[in-house]
Amino acid sequence: MTSRMSSYARPTRIDEALALLARSGRTILAGGTDFYPSRVETSPRDDVVDISALADLRGIQQTDTGWRFGAATIWTEVIEAKLPPLFDGLKLAAREVGGMQIQNSGTIAGNLCNASPAADGVPALLTLNARVEIAAADSRRVLPLEQFILGPRKTALRAGELVTAILVPKSAHPARSDFLKLGARKYLVISIAMVACVFEVEDGTVRAARVAVGSCSPVAMRLPKLEQALAGRPLDRHLGECVLAEHVQPLAPLDDVRASGAYRRQAALTLIRRSLERLA
Ligand SMILES: Cc1cc2nc3c(=O)[nH]c(=O)nc-3n(C[C@H](O)[C@H](O)[C@H](O)COP(=O)(O)OP(=O)(O)OC[C@H]3O[C@@H](n4cnc5c(N)ncnc54)[C@H](O)[C@@H]3O)c2cc1C
Repeated sequence: MTSRMSSYARPTRIDEALALLARSGRTILAGGTDFYPSRVETSPRDDVVDISALADLRGIQQTDTGWRFGAATIWTEVIEAKLPPLFDGLKLAAREVGGMQIQNSGTIAGNLCNASPAADGVPALLTLNARVEIAAADSRRVLPLEQFILGPRKTALRAGELVTAILVPKSAHPARSDFLKLGARKYLVISIAMVACVFEVEDGTVRAARVAVGSCSPVAMRLPKLEQALAGRPLDRHLGECVLAEHVQPLAPLDDVRASGAYRRQAALTLIRRSLERLA
């Protein structure tokens, strides 16, 4: 019996990578921290395009309209970057992705493309109104993050496409942000629930609020009714009191080995209240 050999390429130019990806059946490898664990005890059969040598995919740049996070920017770069308070929540999330070894290798786009309901980067990026820049050999497109992750392990990526960047727009008002994760222990843990919040604040009033919850639905989600209830309120320590059980109704938390759905829903409510108090 003959077994099919896999191939490995590590291009240094994006056009070279896209040309390789245009051939059918190629798998993208970035930091490998999701790729390798999902292939334990199986022979590697993938034809791999390793994107870790694509310098254009690395680093964070400020642009006229916001910020551009290269797709292969590692979590440590996010943590160490000089960024305004709008990104404090994303930095807190970055610190929660595994330990330092994982943060030194795992990338921001890898976290999105893996499409885990428990991916720590997703709620924070949802509250940043992030958009996903995608390239193929003959096309370019940009999708809001909400339209990019379609379900557990399912994204809108088509064959031959590569995520090239995550784009975050400037906020209209000065913003502050937060992220809280609950797990069965403090570090190195898959979350039971997590919450990210961004507040745009002017003259002590919340002008816009964005709240997202992860690990409590097939894809992390924003809570628009809560966001509407928070907008226009004074930013004070009573803010948590406007969070009602009905605001977390859209969540669909599962019962699993980590927690029951009912516990997860309650945990989300508590984390949101705590986060609002921290932001105030
Ligand atoms: C011990 C350990 C602990 C972990 N803890 C956490 C945790 O606490 N929280 C958390 O959220 N995650 C955690 N992870 C998961 C992982 O580290 C992150 O999701 C990380 O951000 C993945 O990035 P990567 O570059 O390693 O992705 P890879 O493993 O290289 O790729 C992941 C998937 O994305 C695809 N992909 C990668 N980059 C692109 C791109 N630019 N365009 C298109 N497709 C792409 C790959 O084909 C693959 O399907 C952990 C992993 C390990 C091994």
